[in-house]
Amino acid sequence: MAKSVVHTDIDGRKLKLSNLEKVLYPNTQVSKAEIIQYYLSIAPLMLPFVKARPLTLIRFPDGIDKGHFYTKTKPEWTPNWIGGQLIQHSEEAIEYIVIKEKPGLVWLANLAALELHPMQMTVDNMDLPDHFIFDLDPPEGTDFEGLKSIAFRLRDFLESQGYIPFIKTSGSKGLHIFVPIIKEHDHEKMVEQVKVLASSFVKQNKEDCTLAMSKEKRKGKTLIDIFRNHKAHTTVAPYSMRGKTGSPISFPITWSELNEVFTSKDIHIRNYQDWLDKRGDAWANFYESARPLIPEAPDPETQAAVDKKLKSYYDKRDMDATPEPGGAIHTATGDQCCIQLHDAQNLHYDLRLEADGVLLSWAIPKGLPFKKGVKRLAIRTEDHPLQYLDFEGVIPKGQYGAGQMWVFARGRFKWDSKKDKSLSFTLDTPEIKRSYKIYNTKEDQWIIELASTSEALDLHMPLEPMLAGVSETLPTLSKYTFEIKWDGIRSLIHLDGDSVKIYSRSGRDISKQFPELCDPDLFDVEQGVFDGEIVVLDEQGRPVFSQVISRMHSAGKTIQTNKKKYPVVCYLFDALLIDGVWITDKPLIKRQAWLSVCLKKQGTYRISETMDDGKGLFKAARAMNLEGVMAKDKLGKYILGQRRNEWLKIKFRHDIICTIAGYTKGEGDRSGLFGSLHLLAAQDDGTMKYMGRVGTGFDTPKMKKLLTLFEPLVIDKKSFSDKVEEAARSIWLEPILQCEVKYASLSSNGTLREPVFQKLIEKN
Ligand code: MN
Repeated sequence: MAKSVVHTDIDGRKLKLSNLEKVLYPNTQVSKAEIIQYYLSIAPLMLPFVKARPLTLIRFPDGIDKGHFYTKTKPEWTPNWIGGQLIQHSEEAIEYIVIKEKPGLVWLANLAALELHPMQMTVDNMDLPDHFIFDLDPPEGTDFEGLKSIAFRLRDFLESQGYIPFIKTSGSKGLHIFVPIIKEHDHEKMVEQVKVLASSFVKQNKEDCTLAMSKEKRKGKTLIDIFRNHKAHTTVAPYSMRGKTGSPISFPITWSELNEVFTSKDIHIRNYQDWLDKRGDAWANFYESARPLIPEAPDPETQAAVDKKLKSYYDKRDMDATPEPGGAIHTATGDQCCIQLHDAQNLHYDLRLEADGVLLSWAIPKGLPFKKGVKRLAIRTEDHPLQYLDFEGVIPKGQYGAGQMWVFARGRFKWDSKKDKSLSFTLDTPEIKRSYKIYNTKEDQWIIELASTSEALDLHMPLEPMLAGVSETLPTLSKYTFEIKWDGIRSLIHLDGDSVKIYSRSGRDISKQFPELCDPDLFDVEQGVFDGEIVVLDEQGRPVFSQVISRMHSAGKTIQTNKKKYPVVCYLFDALLIDGVWITDKPLIKRQAWLSVCLKKQGTYRISETMDDGKGLFKAARAMNLEGVMAKDKLGKYILGQRRNEWLKIKFRHDIICTIAGYTKGEGDRSGLFGSLHLLAAQDDGTMKYMGRVGTGFDTPKMKKLLTLFEPLVIDKKSFSDKVEEAARSIWLEPILQCEVKYASLSSNGTLREPVFQKLIEKN
């Protein structure tokens, strides 16, 4: 095949692009054209991190499966508008490639230089680096959650030292933390300081972190690699592609997005736009966040005041045993706040408001009130360090406040008035925008109430639940979590103080029919809207649809008798709102985690368990003869009233061979044809049993053909004794023709549910 060549002009530079159709990532079928397109579109975000920096390239001219080579030296045939930088190494001097603008990126992409590895300084001042890097390199087989936990701890540590760290996926196995600094020290001084920081961090985290490079010495720990901070060393650039299966990108993310990443290859050329659409440029403030390499000591007076306030915090904790943050310095802004959900001995919320370098803190057992006139008890607790604002994790058993801590709401606030024993403030977080008043009654007891001017919670039941799309096959992507598809009555449950109301999918209030679900004492929270499925289970734990339906249709006295006969359980799988806060915008995994603490204990309400092993669940559920499984996007939001593919139901379909025993006459657009076919199937004992009717799976020509086949088989009376519906509209046939039918499950009287006609079985 002749080499294809395209001449183009980008920002006034003439470029000759070749082999655009060549597939460089065979697995994902990503061509060179697509890569050039990517670099063109990402250029505005990427250039600040690669331009004017000496580059090392990794080129994959024949695709990622066919070898690669490093290029350090600027080739002779480089266009004259691409720059260069001579660096003297111990053995030789090398002139590196330096690009300045978008056409340079495209020129590199055309060389199949998929990976760009820049240095940590720019050519205008080669002796003063402007950031340092920690490369978190996990050992083989480490789970990514463990690596994320190290990254969060390292962030807290670096922030406590006065730096503002940024994170990106490596596009391979690890995570990269970049820390911008003011250009004022050389590489040697930087390496010295980075060593001090890294040693101090590893000392506090020796369980899972090491500075040892050698595999034997690492003993399964994550390497905190600081080696790349030496002069003329390089690291893969933010937004650079990687030459790895799946066409991953080394992608800048925000710290909160780290919770939403499950491998370092999650972000790739086919989905990066979704991440950008969500929040724009995660590293937009990178260079503005530069801090001195050697942090200035804080003003001793301020520091002493903060230390004094935090004494009680440190006295209560063993900082070597708890993952909670320590350190005294943090980027104070004066207006940061958070509400944490703390699953300690008693589930409660912690309200924290920044004041004078620390966080004023209260534990609020029942959560912040969201109705006017409601007063809630708040217990003043010790001042917390500012780093606590983002703390999520498990405080180990035996430690103060043992249990899981989640960030429930996080943002800014403003004081409306501030006296020693009475404070008014307005929260401005994505989750809560309300004004509160909190005042001291005695000792550590305070009362919090909604300030009279602010808006109450906007909740109007009934709501329409989110609906699932349908998939024929089990999805395999790691973004899915799986659960049983329960076959019952889809319901939204509204808990509000002393009242529990149950609404069906169509919004009908069905609370009366299910008295055992209307007990507020079953919940550990004050208020919530939960999504679930009400089922009646047989001895094997399988839902019996007909029985739950008879519960739903009970009225008067039969409600109580049916309650005894067919006790229900409700499997909860989602939460939309908890204690006055809408959580529909939070990722599914977070909603599920919070849902799990809303129940006092599992009984009438149960949590529908989820698992990552979709195949295993599918096999087990099929063997149990359940209806199917659900696959849900771990990061998906809850979208009221919409059918969305973030949720997929995968129903088991079964095949059966049936005999056609008759048909019903067609009506409406099927007049002159037939409505449905009466089906019989042979039982193990050889007798024939009525299986109900199938009315879908035909088109008009198919029906016409069947009718001609039926004509000679018509008989006066039906050939079997089982009762049927629509007998008066039916024509009976000699039971000779056989067909294949797919169906979802058998109903309690043994007829087919959701049958679909497949084909006539032709006999020779
Ligand atoms: Mn607490």
